[in-house]
Amino acid sequence: MSEGAAGAVLDTTALLHWPLDRLRGGVCCASQLDELERLSPARRMLVEAADLDWMNPSPAQLEAAKAAAAATGDLPRLSTVDLEVLALALGLKRVLVTDDYRLQNVAMHAGLEARSLATRGARERWSWIWRCTGCGKEHNVSTNVERKRDGPGPECDVCGSPTVMKRARR
Ligand SMILES: [Zn+2]
Repeated sequence: MSEGAAGAVLDTTALLHWPLDRLRGGVCCASQLDELERLSPARRMLVEAADLDWMNPSPAQLEAAKAAAAATGDLPRLSTVDLEVLALALGLKRVLVTDDYRLQNVAMHAGLEARSLATRGARERWSWIWRCTGCGKEHNVSTNVERKRDGPGPECDVCGSPTVMKRARR
């Protein structure tokens, strides 16, 4: 619980809330600095000066992250920064520190350790599908899906009705 960040990939909530000395040695995406700037410019200045590894995921790492997130069905609800953080963790095979349950879910499905900010340990894993509101057909999430926080999914390929995100029955 008091473990620091050394070598782990940290999401932006960790950058906001962890003490600076605990962040030492963590790995982050350069794009998280912009996100931090929007949330707290003062914190950004502190974090920028902290001893962190700033990296950018490669296109191949991003594609792998998209594929992993499509496989669990979480992809449509991930932001661009979320995907980049995930891509670094997957690409470097590092512990991922995040309170975002979607990121935790994808990371654990992909065999990584996902750690929340305050507590340790994995939780239950699940998968998501799009279910048609008309005919009930279930569609898997594809890697080229539009990503947004909420709202309906792609139209059903059978009846054209909107789909909604549901937990898959396994
Ligand atoms: Zn349908």
